[in-house]
Amino acid sequence: MAEKGILTVVSGFSGAGKGTVMKALTESFEGYALSVSATTRAPRPGEQDGREYFFRTEEQFQEMIAEDALIEYACYVNHSYGTPREYVESRLAEGKDVLLEIEIQGALKVKERYPDALLVFIMPPTAAELKARLIGRGTETEEIVKQRLKRAAEEAESMEAYDYILVNDTVEACKERLHRLIQSQHMRAVANRDRIDRMKQELKEINATDVCKTIANH
Ligand code: 5GP
Repeated sequence: MAEKGILTVVSGFSGAGKGTVMKALTESFEGYALSVSATTRAPRPGEQDGREYFFRTEEQFQEMIAEDALIEYACYVNHSYGTPREYVESRLAEGKDVLLEIEIQGALKVKERYPDALLVFIMPPTAAELKARLIGRGTETEEIVKQRLKRAAEEAESMEAYDYILVNDTVEACKERLHRLIQSQHMRAVANRDRIDRMKQELKEINATDVCKTIANH
């Protein structure tokens, strides 16, 4: 049986570059599976159903909740977002390291349901850098930049609930750190329960045989 994968939740302020880091991570290394969420918001130009998101009506979204098809869901700026259960659980069982890029309320719900999940918060080096990146995108109005910075201040209040904080100074360096962090989780005792049980069982079996006799025969 494949060793179970690590479930990692990545959050960060809008403009922190977490999407770019995740993309770089999955393109550079094997073994990752990036979950695609369901949402009730409309697709942006260039977005495809099933690739960026599963775009669903409010009614369909409510049905998914009723069927317990979502691991978590949350409301963000008047729209619902949720993580489909089936994809996440089957990839983890296959041994893939599953990545969820979701906001804070959802991250905390995942931690409640999967206490071994790794919660990572990606932030820019400074607030001034965040502002510069949001303005630099050139796609947002001044009003939206203001809203996002206000939201970032609110989100900063929950950063301590995360297991790790990664500074996105450069995409390359941040991607490497995230990869090393996730891979190190494979060595945690909680990620090795099967191995521990197997060792206990093997030792029991060895001790049940006459150890001295085996040594004497050597
Ligand atoms: P956007 O509409 O800009 O793609 O995403 C808005 C916010 O929703 C982002 O912070 C994103 O991480 C978050 N988000 C995306 N999918 C999910 C999800 O399945 N659950 C939760 N809780 N948040 C999500």
